[in-house]
Amino acid sequence: MEDGTQTKTEHEPLILEIKGNSLDDGPGIRTVIFFKGCPLDCVWCHNPEAKRTGEELSFEANECIACDTCVKVCEAGALDRHNPGYVDRAKCTLCFRCVKSCPAEALTRVGRRMSVQEVMELILEDVPFFKTSGGGVTLSGGEPTLRIDYASELLRALKAHGIHTLVETSGLFRLESFDQLVYPFTDLIYFDLKLMNAEEHVRFCGVSNLRIRDNFRELFARSLAGGTPLLPRVPLIPGITATDRNLTAIAGFLRENGADRVALLAYNPLWMEKNAKIGLENPLASREEMNRFMSAEAMEHCRALFAGFQQV
Ligand code: SF4
Ligand code: SF4
Repeated sequence: MEDGTQTKTEHEPLILEIKGNSLDDGPGIRTVIFFKGCPLDCVWCHNPEAKRTGEELSFEANECIACDTCVKVCEAGALDRHNPGYVDRAKCTLCFRCVKSCPAEALTRVGRRMSVQEVMELILEDVPFFKTSGGGVTLSGGEPTLRIDYASELLRALKAHGIHTLVETSGLFRLESFDQLVYPFTDLIYFDLKLMNAEEHVRFCGVSNLRIRDNFRELFARSLAGGTPLLPRVPLIPGITATDRNLTAIAGFLRENGADRVALLAYNPLWMEKNAKIGLENPLASREEMNRFMSAEAMEHCRALFAGFQQV
């Protein structure tokens, strides 16, 4: 709040999920904290439930046994089989009575407010796995730096327990705040680069890429000078980021900045089902190539555009 009367609850961001035993989000076995809320609005977002900051109602049609219990408890009249996606989002008041009533868990509440202490209690159970595997904790999202005070408090608590920390970021943050609140407590940064063309970045990600590029330049220069290591990552989205023109431009940008390592993230179409569950529109639905996983040939083609880079 502007007047500084922020309550404890408002201070705590929504956590989408805490996922243990991850082998895909950094070195060793990791626990991943997915923050809810992102300053970007990528049309293909692989974690669409993490895009918006508020709580959401998710409906899983495959789980529904059509008992209509939820319809009876919904005072807003928002549930009807004739609604596209079942839930009329304009009517739904997010009271979540339906979630409690559903015997099949087809309706779920997305996002949970958790204190740093609550998160730490869960994480500390995983410390033995971190120790034996060289793992730790990854802050992901959404964008973990969106609620930077909370992220900072969590990172400090992790470092106080000697836990390795990794921050996965879209790169859109105020560097001054990041330097003060995140950088000193972060052991590794995964930094996503999506589109080099400024107009395309606005069109497909909802915001300019200027600050992202500037932040990358600065943080990568520091990593070369012995600062926190940074791994650039590129999500491969058919026809959008995974074009020869864009990938060649990203490879050029990375070379300019002295990078010789990159992670190319293969496209996964499962985000579309997630979109539907929370009633998000999909402007890419008519693009046939968005419905398939990337072929090995397409992946190899993308890799070839980063010849000379170590690809991790
Ligand atoms: S959250 Fe409340 S208003 Fe929304 S569909 Fe469920 S019962 Fe109805
Ligand atoms: S209560 Fe659950 S299972 Fe029953 S109709 Fe509603 S969503 Fe489907």
